[in-house]
Amino acid sequence: MKKIKKGKLFVVSGPSGVGKSSLVKDALRELKDFEKSISVTTRIKRDDEKDGEHYHFINEEEFKVLIEKGELIEWAFYCGNYYGTLKKTVVENLKKGKNIILVIEVSGAMQVKKIIKDAYLIFITTPDFFQLEKRLRGRQTENVKKIEERLKKAKEELRYEKHYDCIIVNNNYNEALKNLKYVLITKMEENFNEHTEC
Ligand code: 5GP
Repeated sequence: MKKIKKGKLFVVSGPSGVGKSSLVKDALRELKDFEKSISVTTRIKRDDEKDGEHYHFINEEEFKVLIEKGELIEWAFYCGNYYGTLKKTVVENLKKGKNIILVIEVSGAMQVKKIIKDAYLIFITTPDFFQLEKRLRGRQTENVKKIEERLKKAKEELRYEKHYDCIIVNNNYNEALKNLKYVLITKMEENFNEHTEC
């Protein structure tokens, strides 16, 4: 039996401040068969971010050209900024057998699911809204107005939970990390076993 390597696409979503980026980053420190896709965004770069590592930071005009040319597999306008995933990078990496993780908001996740039916959708949430609010207000990456905007958005995003294949509650960070790694490995192995050739 010869195994054909075919990558699997994972989508991780969850309200702003839930810890999804940190969880994915820490999971990928150990899981070498996975790669996080780098999105394009029109958002202003934060002090601790690097262009080409956290995002490809571009302007609105450049973003609109990508939309017009059909170069984005999904995109969204989120709290005043555009965010999108480059189609070419995702498709090429999947063909190469790489497992790709998109860390994107809910409307983008729904667009991906329509195009790539076997994408596996993971939703990260908190036990209650109060904890999310506390985290978002505490991380000091946005001003008060932006935080309010993101909290409002978070309430809308929590309604999308039901469309996801798996829900991970980030109550205890290490526990959530363990669960995320378990899900990624299990689903990657299932995908690998499905793609066999005699
Ligand atoms: P942040 O500004 O905090 O980096 O991201 C704001 C939101 O946009 C987060 O929920 C993040 O996951 C999401 N996001 C990041 N990249 C993309 C993308 O390429 N597409 C979509 N739809 N959402 C994204």
